[in-house]
Amino acid sequence: MASNQLNGQQVLILPEGSNRILGRDAQRTNIAVGYAIASAIKSTLGPKGMDKMLVDEMGDIVITNDGATILEEMNIEHPAGKMVVEIAKTQDKEVGDGTTSAVVIAGELLKKSTELLDQSIHASTIIGGYKNATKKSIEVLYEIAEKIGVEDKKQLEKLASVSMGSKTVGSGTTKELLAKIVVEAVTQVAESVDGKFVVDKDYIKQEKKQGNDVTQTSLIRGVILDKDVVHSGMPKSIENAKIALIDLAFEIAKPETDARINITSPDQLTSFLDQEEKILKDMVEKVVASGANVVFCQKGIDDVAQHYLAKKGVLAARRVKKSDMDKLSKATGAKIVSTLEDLADKDLGRAGLVEERKIAGDQMIFVEKCKDPKSVTILVRGGTSHVIDEAERAITDAIGATTGAIEEGRYVLGGGCIEMAIASRLRKYAVEVGGREQLAIQAYAEALEVIPRTLAESCGMDKIDAIAELRNKHEKKLAPYGIDVYASKVADMKVVGVIEPLKVKKQALQSASEVVEMLLRIDDIIASRGKPSGAPGGMGMGDME
Ligand code: ADP
Ligand code: MG
Repeated sequence: MASNQLNGQQVLILPEGSNRILGRDAQRTNIAVGYAIASAIKSTLGPKGMDKMLVDEMGDIVITNDGATILEEMNIEHPAGKMVVEIAKTQDKEVGDGTTSAVVIAGELLKKSTELLDQSIHASTIIGGYKNATKKSIEVLYEIAEKIGVEDKKQLEKLASVSMGSKTVGSGTTKELLAKIVVEAVTQVAESVDGKFVVDKDYIKQEKKQGNDVTQTSLIRGVILDKDVVHSGMPKSIENAKIALIDLAFEIAKPETDARINITSPDQLTSFLDQEEKILKDMVEKVVASGANVVFCQKGIDDVAQHYLAKKGVLAARRVKKSDMDKLSKATGAKIVSTLEDLADKDLGRAGLVEERKIAGDQMIFVEKCKDPKSVTILVRGGTSHVIDEAERAITDAIGATTGAIEEGRYVLGGGCIEMAIASRLRKYAVEVGGREQLAIQAYAEALEVIPRTLAESCGMDKIDAIAELRNKHEKKLAPYGIDVYASKVADMKVVGVIEPLKVKKQALQSASEVVEMLLRIDDIIASRGKPSGAPGGMGMGDME
């Protein structure tokens, strides 16, 4: 079907069954798809946002308020839709919070670009304006933001709590508890590198165990291993543990090839077995000589070796995953060794307690009460798997927000305040820029207002009045006003305590505008063999209000 004409001659360049949409139609289609997706998750924004129940082909249910999760579960097929979903994924990966905001802003930017296209403003002018506006917005963010550091625990807790705001994880006190745990975890793991703090989120593990309820969630200053103590004769609990991390098998290596040993007398057999036993015994002796009373082995531990370790009162676990070995090393300060030759006290790690405990029916080894662990575990509890999963997502957001705040060292006011502040600056900036581009910058400013507008709507306020009041307050000078969704009114966000990391906002603007620019630049959609290129299947196109 796709054909190009030159001098009246038809040339087919695409295979039969391909689908092609060109120019304006291509842009419009992509915009409509992106907007539809954003509309679908818009109602979840903020603490008063609604949850979505997602049911997959197998009938499994996920109940969540998390933008990234909803989009993932929606299995979006349309290529432009997938690009929008990417925003959420990037946001989730880079900062771990602000996913809904990023997608909603992208949707609004797309909607505004239709209006601009309708006024015959060229896509490249819109792209230029949006790019310019993003740059300016980020400058404004840094200008307005306030400083925050690892020592500001109270502020960080507030920020963690706000980021969990929209997830149903129980009452306000539960959120406070989780916020405390998260801040403790993140500040504990934070390390200062060249005067800046970095947090490796891989070293904050969440271990989910059904049972009890969310309020029983706790921070383990160390690591929980999904392992048993290897031998029943070993102690199940050791205080003031000295831990050896060994990447070496406590086994006699079996010959690679089919070796044969000729044994001609019973004596020979005994001495052969004795020999094996002696090697293993020596290995155990070396471990014990180093002072270790706990051994975590990445490889196997032979029965004989287990027996000797037990006899020496050593607690041991075998076949510990490499990733857990790394976490143990970070938590206890132990060095992972692959030879026992010079194993010494300096290689050993320390933990206040190593103990095998049964939790939700599973035996697990707790390595806890470490002194200055750079790897910690949050033991997440909850009555049902749905509750635990949502708690995990809430904690992930809070970890993201806290990490973002510590790494950038800056926060801003939420509840739509920062978006209003940026919008007001952008309007002034647009006039300075002038020309047609100013229209795109103005459109960008209006698009940002989607955040306070949606928040106002979520708590039953009149959104037009709310935006008018906020514009008024932000017009002349820097103001701390945003939407207090609990009181359903415009309020001072500093007083209400709605603060968010600059990093979350910055990333949201960057990824939203990046994808919008990319979509606007497309003027040709070529889909092979009739793949979807029209409307997204089964989903409303979203009423462009
Ligand atoms: P996201 O996935 O974008 O983080 P959320 O559903 O977590 O989406 O909503 C975040 C928005 O809700 C932010 O704009 C934030 O400032 C706002 N928010 C959070 N808590 C409050 C609150 N107590 N009052 C007003 N706005 C809030
Ligand atoms: Mg959030």
